[in-house]
Amino acid sequence: MLEDVAARILMVEDDDAIAAPLARALTREGYEVERAENGTDALALAASAPVDLVLLDLGLPDMDGLDVCRGLRASGFDGGILILTARGGELDRVVGLDVGADDYLSKPFSLSELLARSRALLRRSTRPLGDAEAPPATPTTLGAPAPTSGGLRVDADARRVWIDETELGLTAKEFDVLLRLDAQRGSVVTRETLMAEVWDENWFGSTKTLDTTVGRLRQKLLDGGAPVVLSTVRGVGFRLEDVAGHA
Ligand code: CA
Repeated sequence: MLEDVAARILMVEDDDAIAAPLARALTREGYEVERAENGTDALALAASAPVDLVLLDLGLPDMDGLDVCRGLRASGFDGGILILTARGGELDRVVGLDVGADDYLSKPFSLSELLARSRALLRRSTRPLGDAEAPPATPTTLGAPAPTSGGLRVDADARRVWIDETELGLTAKEFDVLLRLDAQRGSVVTRETLMAEVWDENWFGSTKTLDTTVGRLRQKLLDGGAPVVLSTVRGVGFRLEDVAGHA
């Protein structure tokens, strides 16, 4: 299980009183922990070594944590990002902005809750962790499943998505939303279903995060030339449809 593999966690936290005990706890759980005390170091560390999960404080000495989050995504980081914020009011700001985070925790949080959220995000990590069962890195076209329809294929087991022969890079939440919509292509999937199944029962907060995730996913599908349309059904949910002529 996850405890047996060295998942790498980057903790971005300037407060020693939080960082030191948290690092000890995570190490005890079997994670490899790197710490950055500011945003600049965080971006440099994430760029120089593989990272599976980022725990991100928002109040950093040199820059806004939200900009660190945006910077990580802009540089292609597709692991999990869990934002830790001291002020409850900041959560509204976080979920209202399209920064690319996967989940949020308000300080103070319990260690068990942090570990549960971290495990959930690591399970969805796209980087194969170091267990013997993980497939070796292969060119993206090898072992790709046969096209299902419309040139967009979603491989649930490998957690990978292709548009024709090109792999699409998605965050964990974007992938989960797409997988759920793809399972019911052409039909509406309700907001409640997506919140319950993708964000699970631990989520209690604004569902704006669903809209921002869908917005990013829609843009990526568009940019990648996927022959599908991700429609918003106002007040109900979302629908993934094949573009006419490609089904
Ligand atoms: Ca801080």
